[in-house]
Amino acid sequence: MAKTEVIYCKAIVKTQFSDPHQCKKGATKDGYCKHHHPEEYAKRAKAKQDKIDFDFQRHLIEKGGLLMHAALTLILEGHDNPQALARVTLEEISPTGNILDIKT
Ligand SMILES: [Zn+2]
Repeated sequence: MAKTEVIYCKAIVKTQFSDPHQCKKGATKDGYCKHHHPEEYAKRAKAKQDKIDFDFQRHLIEKGGLLMHAALTLILEGHDNPQALARVTLEEISPTGNILDIKT
């Protein structure tokens, strides 16, 4: 029986414990293993960025909510310049007026 030659993934990998070397996994598509295929890599990178974006948006909403709650409490207690307080609060939350630019 003829020995089947394994075609290794063409990705060059490096860890903190090794010098750059060719991946030792078998190639499954386009010369790459499943882990190093550019499409899979892009999917993982997008999923990671989506998680970062989601966490960042949640953080922004929480901070904005806290500042608005504080401002509304001051207005309810009779703040003598609610319009100025609203302006300062909005500037603190988002200097550009864009919800995506909320300060952290
Ligand atoms: Zn690989």
